[in-house]
Amino acid sequence: AAKERRGRALRYRPDLDERAAEDARLGAQLRIALDTGQLRLVYQPIVELPEGRTVAVETLVRWDHPELGEVGPATFIPFTERSGLIVELGAWVLRTACAQAQLWRTTLGGHAPQRISVNVSPRQLTEPGFADMVIATLAETGLPAGCLAVEVTETAVFTGGKAIDALHDLHRHGVRIALDDFGTGYSSLGLLQTVPVDILKVDKSFVDGIAVAGRESVIARALIGVSTGLGLTAVAEGVETAEQANELYRMGYRYAQGYYFGRPTAEPVFQVPVHAAA
Ligand code: C2E
Ligand code: CA
Ligand code: CA
Ligand code: CA
Repeated sequence: AAKERRGRALRYRPDLDERAAEDARLGAQLRIALDTGQLRLVYQPIVELPEGRTVAVETLVRWDHPELGEVGPATFIPFTERSGLIVELGAWVLRTACAQAQLWRTTLGGHAPQRISVNVSPRQLTEPGFADMVIATLAETGLPAGCLAVEVTETAVFTGGKAIDALHDLHRHGVRIALDDFGTGYSSLGLLQTVPVDILKVDKSFVDGIAVAGRESVIARALIGVSTGLGLTAVAEGVETAEQANELYRMGYRYAQGYYFGRPTAEPVFQVPVHAAA
């Protein structure tokens, strides 16, 4: 059994040469993917409780690999961060998402989502000129700054002063700042004093067990308290059941996101409430 375990560990931990070779292969493939349009964006509704009306969407990237089919971002975003390709990929995501949001605004009017969220990785945030690039993209696409939120993780913000300066620049310009996966990083609460945060995205791990009144509900309740106390907007992530949605609403959450309300899709429907939480 020990030998089998060792074998498995080896299989799942390629040595550095293998890792480098795999990264090079992935890099070449992603380069082609970017240039030939194999990447596309999907949008997941962020809804207002209790009705479940879509008020915003989060942008998530997908890769239609010619042989492997759909590849999720968890498999290639970390690589793009290591290789630096995320800078170009991220700029493409931002431009495409802002153009899409502006198209919704012009075609759907009052039914359009009020805001679009775009994930920004640590590497992008510390790239010189990042804030200027975002502001230029808004100008090019015509999307008002207040219609855009950038989602950053606590880890990203922890990369230091340059990241925090970029967030202040964006915030001054009217772009909303969302702290993603909130509660899973380190020094979560301390960050709220140095970073101009508007939105706290409460991680799915605190939502998962919420309907069974355990430790998770204690934390979820504490986080809505912090959020309300500081005048921030809390969004509960990863809501999969009506019970969770109802419990979150009772706790004071007014915004939620998750498969229960809608999966990420290329063409979300905005006109009608998807589901209702009682
Ligand atoms: P995230 O920003 O925390 O995004 C939420 C992830 O949870 C998405 O996975 C979404 O599809 C999934 N999700 C939403 N609701 C539910 C639910 O009810 N249950 C479950 N089990 N999952 C749910 P996805 O699309 O695979 O993205 C994974 C991560 O990849 C994202 O986590 C984000 O960190 C990163 N990512 C995705 N797109 C981009 C991008 O354009 N740029 C950057 N830098 N990162 C991205
Ligand atoms: Ca996110
Ligand atoms: Ca998240
Ligand atoms: Ca996450």
